[in-house]
Amino acid sequence: MNEQLQPLKKPARVGKAGRSGTQDDIVYAHIFEAILEQRLAPGTKLSEEALGEIFGVSRTIIRRALSRLAHESVVLLRPNRGAVVASPTVEEARQVFFSRRMVERAITELAVQHATAEQLNELRQMVREERDSFSRGDRGAGIRLSGEFHLKLAEAAGNAPLVSFQRSLVSQTSLIIAQYESGTRSHCSYDEHMQLIDAIEARDAQQAVSLMMHHMDHIDSKLNLDEESASDDLHAVFSHLLKKPKVSVKG
Ligand SMILES: [Zn+2]
Repeated sequence: MNEQLQPLKKPARVGKAGRSGTQDDIVYAHIFEAILEQRLAPGTKLSEEALGEIFGVSRTIIRRALSRLAHESVVLLRPNRGAVVASPTVEEARQVFFSRRMVERAITELAVQHATAEQLNELRQMVREERDSFSRGDRGAGIRLSGEFHLKLAEAAGNAPLVSFQRSLVSQTSLIIAQYESGTRSHCSYDEHMQLIDAIEARDAQQAVSLMMHHMDHIDSKLNLDEESASDDLHAVFSHLLKKPKVSVKG
């Protein structure tokens, strides 16, 4: 069971996790990747003992990785009950999407100003890999690359706090999609990603922002966050009964 801790297949891709590569970075990156790929279901218990065994590291290292994920709001640390993968409520999901739109807008505007030719090439290469992953049926990799495209774009914007917000928002978006998407799980459109890169390369801020907002609308529209969604609000669930005075809900 205690296999050696392997670095991620493509460690240099996403932010700090791959680059530094201490043990807790690697554990963090594996869990982050599983969340991005929507392989780890919202609400899953993250037992320190089980993870320690799987990764062959101490519980202290697992705790460090989990605490970083908690900081990004994708893991909840519950006192005395251990960690779980977050399962955002409808209201939390709405808040994440609202913030994501703000952050994506700012990132797009800054990327139009600051993205270098090299960064644009890397982004294009990433979108090609994303398309290839889907066409060979590797959905997990495709979905992960979709998310990583948005992280890479944040890096191209050249603003460190935005990169950090974006990491949290992109991984939370993956959890929300895993939890609320109706029908088959979908993903970003790589055609839309390509069009975005074209507009950024043309330094056309208005067009780039408009494409990005359109792209966000598409992600929103695939989710089932409207009134038909399951709810944890008892009054909302039974509102049809409450409207009728004859039905008593007291008992
Ligand atoms: Zn996208």
